[in-house]
Amino acid sequence: MEKYKTQGYVFEIRNFGNLMFFIIRDQYKKEQITFFKKENPDLFNEAKKITKESVISVIGEKKESEQAMNGYEIIPETLEIISLAEAPVPLDISGKIESNFDSRINYRYIDLRTPENLAIFKVRSKIVRATTEFFDNNGFININTPKIVSNGVESGSELFEIKYFEKKAYLSQSPQIYKQMMIAGGFNKVYEIGEVFRAEKSHTTRHLTEFTGIDMEMGYISDENDVMDLLEKYILYVLDYIKENSKQELEILKVNIEVPEKIPRITMAKAKELLKEKGKNIPENEDLDSEAEKLFGEIVKEKYNSDLVFLTEFPFSKRPFYHMCKDERINDLKITKSFDLIYKGCEISTGAQREHRVEILKKQMLEKDMSLEQMDYYVKMLSYGVPAHGGAGLGLDRITQLLLNLQNVKEAVLLPRDPEKLTP
Ligand code: ATP
Ligand code: MG
Repeated sequence: MEKYKTQGYVFEIRNFGNLMFFIIRDQYKKEQITFFKKENPDLFNEAKKITKESVISVIGEKKESEQAMNGYEIIPETLEIISLAEAPVPLDISGKIESNFDSRINYRYIDLRTPENLAIFKVRSKIVRATTEFFDNNGFININTPKIVSNGVESGSELFEIKYFEKKAYLSQSPQIYKQMMIAGGFNKVYEIGEVFRAEKSHTTRHLTEFTGIDMEMGYISDENDVMDLLEKYILYVLDYIKENSKQELEILKVNIEVPEKIPRITMAKAKELLKEKGKNIPENEDLDSEAEKLFGEIVKEKYNSDLVFLTEFPFSKRPFYHMCKDERINDLKITKSFDLIYKGCEISTGAQREHRVEILKKQMLEKDMSLEQMDYYVKMLSYGVPAHGGAGLGLDRITQLLLNLQNVKEAVLLPRDPEKLTP
């Protein structure tokens, strides 16, 4: 008979004196290995030295067994200790004892061995797959843009400064300039999945200093609704995809994904009315704070039965200079052709039609007290012909967090970075 070879981490050890069971596991399976003292005393003694979380390799006979968890057990003939784990292991991965997040991250290589963590990162990986599939199938070109840059487009205060030989450089806080540059370069549609750096000293459950952005930009649009249409199709595609392709992981994480048929689009003015009805007053020119965003999510869920909502018509004062403005004003405010996508009461995306008419763009920069020299390159780039265009930026980590109902965005990141955490 052909011998069966298997390897894995020693997950459980049960010693009954003359009989010993090991449960070993790897990413795909768990198996039982049974050692008999009488039949093979040398092997039995060797096995007794083994600690939990050691990695072993055995060759033996695969035998049917009703008691064993997957209907078979392995009776080993050879046993090789590939790596003997120090005891005790600093984290309990059986789920019986909870460890604090900091020590979990310090020992992330042990923490990741739990079925829950494996499930989270399998789902995250599938979200990436669904993302590339969706954009590729919709005519987008996958691009990579520099992360070492000479200046930013958003607020300068969020930039991490780095030393670049004798010069000063920064870590990219957004691929905004570059994705627009590719539209100016004649590409109709582009998307990028890449690292984004933000020097924000925030300690919330939704902010990281390094996150993975999903950025898209499309040319030849009529207005921002074309971008929302595409984004709506995208996010519903992702939800359907995970629901269909990650059933086992969703079960482990006890997550039920609800996919709405349509995503409502609600103006800022209307959102404020709805919030007012629930006792939350937001001043005319103000944005929703995170508390209002959460409440707004609940209102939409109740009214439209959707976890997702587009919040539209943000005032120019709350948006960057490059968002296009509508011709008409609302309540005396200059209104942008922009939107946020909110999922379960938390922003997952900001998008807009971009101002491509350089004369208006320059006026908008002056309104934001920016110097024209500072953005000279940006203006120039739009000066030699460019289609009307728009796009959006999404956060992969936040999508993963909210889809899986994780308490903190850090749970959705292998090695999270925050203002304090720089290791491992
Ligand atoms: P917030 O208001 O939540 O701080 P933002 O408006 O500053 O976010 P954008 O510049 O609009 O963020 O970035 C686009 C998307 O990138 C966001 O909708 C979010 O999904 C994600 N994102 C932004 N900042 C962070 C961060 N610090 N950590 C994790 N994800 C982020
Ligand atoms: Mg935003």
